[in-house]
Amino acid sequence: MQSILIPGLTALGLNTAAAPALERYGQRLLEQNQVMNLTAITEPEQVARLHMLDCAAVLGAAEFAEKAVLDVGTGAGFPGLVLKLCEPSIRLTLLDSLAKRVNWLEALAPELGAEGVRCIHGRAEELSLQPDWREGFDIVTSRAVADLRVLCELCLPFVKVGGMFLAMKAEDSNEEVNAANRAVSILGGRLLPAWRYTVPGTNVARKVIRIEKVQATPVRYPRRFSKIRKTPL
Ligand code: SAM
Repeated sequence: MQSILIPGLTALGLNTAAAPALERYGQRLLEQNQVMNLTAITEPEQVARLHMLDCAAVLGAAEFAEKAVLDVGTGAGFPGLVLKLCEPSIRLTLLDSLAKRVNWLEALAPELGAEGVRCIHGRAEELSLQPDWREGFDIVTSRAVADLRVLCELCLPFVKVGGMFLAMKAEDSNEEVNAANRAVSILGGRLLPAWRYTVPGTNVARKVIRIEKVQATPVRYPRRFSKIRKTPL
């Protein structure tokens, strides 16, 4: 994987110091995937590109150093744990509704040298109603969790005013983004120009939807998950 990770990180303008930890992460992911469903990608080279480099690219979308970052629906740690390995000053919280994945991440993070990572088992729409969590993060990230309208209601309540929500999406997600305009503004956000990139070593075009939090989210949001899904904003 090093022969993919080192030039890939360089192409993204990132330090290559994280390459050994990212390789170890990829190996542990594939081992654990034999006993727990973590990823549909099973080739080490593809793990390096489509998990590690895809997630590392998000570092170009905002200033991450020293920031309190929450990754919603992190699954096997994407993109949150990759961001922390590449930018160790991040104060990272990983959140997922599946306890098995969270427990695995809790053991894995220190093994990879990622210090102080909080791994939380819970549902986004329940946690963000709690005062300690609401508007408590500079940056919230998410990849492959839900349609953007739903995702905005799950994620924007966690973002401090002045902070940012970053949603990783395919390059051809314009319709989805347009449909989310109303949700973004109701929840206190403002769309900024997207961060576009091609995953190094592939022709996979991706973008990070960047939403700045410009005012507090009204207290009635988020609603219950069944409501969010049935009648997205
Ligand atoms: N972000 C990872 C990635 O890109 O590989 C995982 C994506 S996986 C398809 C979606 C994850 O979101 C699952 O692990 C699921 O448990 C979690 N999830 C879905 N809804 C959630 C919610 N409301 N709160 C917290 N986690 C949620």
